[in-house]
Amino acid sequence: MTRIAVIGPGAVGTSIAYALSNRHDVTLLGRQNQTLTFEDYADQTTRTFTVSALQEVTQTFDVIFIAVKTHQLATVMSALPQLTDNHTTIILAQNGYGMLEQLKDYRAYQAVVYVSGQKKGSHVTHFRDYKLHIQSDIVTEQLAQIFSSTKLELVLEPHIQQAIWYKLIVNLGINTVTALGRDTARVLKDERMAKLCRQLLVEGKQVARAEGIHFDADFVTSIMNIYAGYPDEMGTSMYYDTMNQQPLEVDAIQGYIYQRAKAHQLDTPHLETIYTLLAYQNQSRL
Ligand code: NAP
Repeated sequence: MTRIAVIGPGAVGTSIAYALSNRHDVTLLGRQNQTLTFEDYADQTTRTFTVSALQEVTQTFDVIFIAVKTHQLATVMSALPQLTDNHTTIILAQNGYGMLEQLKDYRAYQAVVYVSGQKKGSHVTHFRDYKLHIQSDIVTEQLAQIFSSTKLELVLEPHIQQAIWYKLIVNLGINTVTALGRDTARVLKDERMAKLCRQLLVEGKQVARAEGIHFDADFVTSIMNIYAGYPDEMGTSMYYDTMNQQPLEVDAIQGYIYQRAKAHQLDTPHLETIYTLLAYQNQSRL
């Protein structure tokens, strides 16, 4: 039997635990012992989950999903030695990139997360998708097999960097304009905000190219078209975090892309400006 834990009983973590729970016992680990309710919006299923305090658990696991926000990763590191052994695989289920460095002593994979949900108090609502994209190799092929009879879909990618950069750039555009514009997706109805968004996508694509990641010529237009399909009232995580005065995952998204732009000595003025503003706004929240 595969011993599975999920660290971070939030929107994504609890959804992963739920998706696996028809076939596997999953240990959900949080900051403290608690009970929470999970609701699958699509089929109206609800479930109660017991969360165990991360620092009190001493058993080891074969697979550990980490689904805390990027700026919270440092706070789970001290618990990992007691939860892992030589067989443990860690799957980092977060947006952004650059955090794997913190897990270099472990067999860890960056997943690109396609799970949509929301946590309010002790209630998690799942809206769409139970999908994690992950680098294909012998370990992840086995995991995909193990999870094949569950709701969790591991999408095996031959080149995970492509999927990571795609999501990074999608987040760069819409997260930035909704957070700085302090408005939902309707912000793109404003021509100047739409222009800024497009310019960010152009610069993001330029940085990706310098990293060896190539997108089609119509990449920017196709992402703008995806945004255009969003309902006006749809917010992004960075929009909600801004409005709720919560820390933003800016260093793992805009900051990571900006850092790579600098490493390649690229001139990315829009990216530099928005990163400066967001990082300043974020300083007092961390
Ligand atoms: P979330 O709802 O805020 O969940 C994070 C959870 O981690 C919270 O339950 C939090 O506990 C817990 N946590 C924080 N520090 C911890 C620690 N030291 N030990 C144990 N648990 C800890 O965030 P999320 O929306 O699930 O996002 C997780 C990641 O997925 C982020 O990188 C996000 O960008 C990405 N993502 C989210 C979505 C989405 O739709 N939500 C979609 C795609 C990607 P408390 O409840 O006590 O604060």
